[in-house]
Amino acid sequence: LSERLSGVFDRLTKQGALSEDDVKTALREVRVALLEADVSLPVARDFVKAVQEKATGQTVTKSVTPGQQVIKIVHDELVHFLAGDEGDIGALKVDNPPAPILMVGLQGGGKTTTTAKLAKRLQEKNGKRVLMASLDVYRPAAMDQLKVLGDQIGVDTLPIVPGQSPADIAKRAKQQATMGGYDVYMLDTAGRLSIDDALMTEVEEIRNITNPRETLLVVDGLTGQDAVHTAENFDERIGISGVILTRMDGDGRGGAALSMRAVTGKPIKFVGLGEKMDAIEEFHPERIAGRILGMGDIVSLVEKAQETIEAEQAERMMKRFQKGRFNMNDLKMQLEQMLKMGGMEGMMGMMPGMKKMSKQMEGAGIDDKMLKRQIALIQSMTKKERANPQLLQASRKKRIAKGAGLEVSELNKLLKMQRQMADMMKKMGKMGKGGMLKQAMK
Ligand code: GDP
Ligand code: MG
Repeated sequence: LSERLSGVFDRLTKQGALSEDDVKTALREVRVALLEADVSLPVARDFVKAVQEKATGQTVTKSVTPGQQVIKIVHDELVHFLAGDEGDIGALKVDNPPAPILMVGLQGGGKTTTTAKLAKRLQEKNGKRVLMASLDVYRPAAMDQLKVLGDQIGVDTLPIVPGQSPADIAKRAKQQATMGGYDVYMLDTAGRLSIDDALMTEVEEIRNITNPRETLLVVDGLTGQDAVHTAENFDERIGISGVILTRMDGDGRGGAALSMRAVTGKPIKFVGLGEKMDAIEEFHPERIAGRILGMGDIVSLVEKAQETIEAEQAERMMKRFQKGRFNMNDLKMQLEQMLKMGGMEGMMGMMPGMKKMSKQMEGAGIDDKMLKRQIALIQSMTKKERANPQLLQASRKKRIAKGAGLEVSELNKLLKMQRQMADMMKKMGKMGKGGMLKQAMK
């Protein structure tokens, strides 16, 4: 598949803005990739349409083919879409103890296993005291299964009382969690082979009794389309707060994740990666995006595009310097970079010809604190002043220094530095192609 994709993209080598045709051709293949990854047809269609609108007209960066650019946009959108709101992934609402967590889903999806995995995680990672209760009254072995897992991971389970209804057990779990001082209690419900009304009514009743903080739908990531149907049904009847995709250690393509996100709008919070109790992870949108688009090749294509784009930005900046344009915005960027790279040494040390200046600056006592003060000074300038530092006369200087809570003498030092740097940039630029600056920027 990825071979076919790169084939199409190689053929698109026009430069300039992405035309509607460029985008359409590339997206036709993306649509096939999505469908092969088990994304449902309407979701694939909507997604492709959204990307098409976004991509058409975007400028193609030099030395990236339009196809690569489209794929990058597709990839980024996919990650963005799968990620949803920040803070949803891997997070569970477990404040106000005891916080009930309701686990729902079809039979065999991995509810019981995931209940225990999450309980272990909450207990070990978040330091919560957890109580687990099995509400599966239909298969006696199901209750034992949860107890065995609980014993194995050191998490308490609600004592089994034969003959109780799921609603009775839910009430008892709530009571026990309150009296026992638990932070969280988890309700592992019974599943069915397919969605039916009796199941939904039962889960609804449990929900009404416990008023869960989280209602997590556990679905088998290998089931594709069925998983989406399941998610839609549970969300409509019960209202889910998140999804957990199991069996992602298998070779499913993960398209169900995209469809479920699209259909329910609910975040995918965790993925199950095996039968062991530690085999659960926060959901990583980039991994699923890579999987959906066909893995390695696409991802490296995207990385290559990213690198090229960054290199071009650096080149544009260099061209400005060669023309002697080095204003306060440029200086601010350099200062921030220096802060990030561990001060003067890191930044200047890498540029031949700058070593001397770096030493000078050190001699002048430039350190992180000073860098921060200089950045504060630039921040208190207006847009116009930053672009044209020669505008700075006495009254402006006073205002700027005051705004940064510093002395005018410090501002004067900064201005001197900017002039020196601008001079130096110009000289280096004059050395022409292959000059020191160019080498230094590589
Ligand atoms: P439930 O009926 O929804 O409670 O499903 P179970 O928790 O009993 O799981 C059914 C089977 O799937 C068990 O054999 C689990 O060990 C297995 N299982 C659950 N989650 C995963 C997973 O993430 N990966 C793999 N490979 N197997 C899993
Ligand atoms: Mg079960």
